[in-house]
Amino acid sequence: MQKQDKMMIKANDPSLESWIEIPADSDFPIQNIPFGVARLKNGKIHCVTRIGDFVIDLYELAGLGFLDNLDIEDLRIFKQPVLNDFIALGKPVWHAVRERVSDLFNRDNATLRDDYDSQSKYLFYISDVEMQMPVRVGDYTDFYSSKEHATNVGMMFRDPENALLPNWKHLPVGYHGRSSSIVVSGTNIHRPKGQTKPNGADTPVFGPSKLFDFELETAFVIGKKTALGDQVSTSEAEDHIFGMVIFNDLSARDMQTWEYVPLGPFLAKNFGSVISPWIVTLEALEPFRTLSPVQDVKVLPYLEYDGEKSFDIHLEVLIKPENGEESKVCHSNFKYLYWNMSQQLAHHTVNGCNINVGDMMASGTISGPTPESYGSMLELTWRGTKPLRLKDGSERKFINDHDTIIMRGFAKNDKVRIGFGESVTKILPVK
Ligand code: CA
Repeated sequence: MQKQDKMMIKANDPSLESWIEIPADSDFPIQNIPFGVARLKNGKIHCVTRIGDFVIDLYELAGLGFLDNLDIEDLRIFKQPVLNDFIALGKPVWHAVRERVSDLFNRDNATLRDDYDSQSKYLFYISDVEMQMPVRVGDYTDFYSSKEHATNVGMMFRDPENALLPNWKHLPVGYHGRSSSIVVSGTNIHRPKGQTKPNGADTPVFGPSKLFDFELETAFVIGKKTALGDQVSTSEAEDHIFGMVIFNDLSARDMQTWEYVPLGPFLAKNFGSVISPWIVTLEALEPFRTLSPVQDVKVLPYLEYDGEKSFDIHLEVLIKPENGEESKVCHSNFKYLYWNMSQQLAHHTVNGCNINVGDMMASGTISGPTPESYGSMLELTWRGTKPLRLKDGSERKFINDHDTIIMRGFAKNDKVRIGFGESVTKILPVK
């Protein structure tokens, strides 16, 4: 089944080339065709895709008749400020649009290639547009699915001998977060203030968070809704997933430590999460399927799954001090996650909880097995006991004001590289 699907995706053919020039090591070859929303120079906001360093305006392309006969009744869905209505059309339509774009921008197709006049209508240089939030996020869930991350946190905050709590290998732990503060790359975030309880103090104090952190995560975007009471099986789960983004789940560790008992994170997490602007479809990631780690505790039947449900996606985090250069502080991989997206979604819906198009579900911090692959400053500096040294010579235990946090992700084999671009945010002083 999987092999057959792969063969039907013509747009994924690694031998395809575009008439748009694509820089070496671009995240956006013609095999990617991700989806996003851009504000154009004239102020209009349209749904777009990208090849190389060029943004392709899907609404204008549709207006010229090039997206006809794709089962899209009203092409004005590409004039929406979010992708939700397009996504709701379903997997066959996402597939058809990718195939059409792939064909139109193929090097051997002269239709658009040689029509210079029309190119100015739909083709824009990336630096001439402003990327927007690609979807209206209805509900947001954050999982906690990296065994290495959960183990590290358990060792630091609880008991090194029993770092994982008893439920951890039986279900993908998660919590409901807040969607209002999920923002697109380029949005800067103020350091939060709130309650913390300093070591040895009897009562809490109020002020700016002193232990400001990132969490390296990915998130998937729901592409097909369910009705209340319905459950999604692990084998059906991917039909409900439109694609993925990089997700920087900013965290205030000192606030978290004081507030999280007994209901979990609250103000330590809901003041800002920053996503990469391009939703990369699962279809584009198809060549990078891989096995999830072996689960050494037998799971209940509804969490069992078949086949390769994970993806080999390289992830990295860089810190750029004000006026300084970028220093890479972490490199990890999506494939390290113990619980895969299909299991997360099966668990999320097993009780009949309904999901909607545009809902976002984040992975939880993706830490790997080595200290360089830990996905948060909390782990990288082991709660501040092992500061990192940046290229400019300065040290970091956590994130300073005016630091820019950059997250990048890409999947790569010897034929093609499918990337996400970046999630970038600068941390501003407390407001
Ligand atoms: Ca998180």
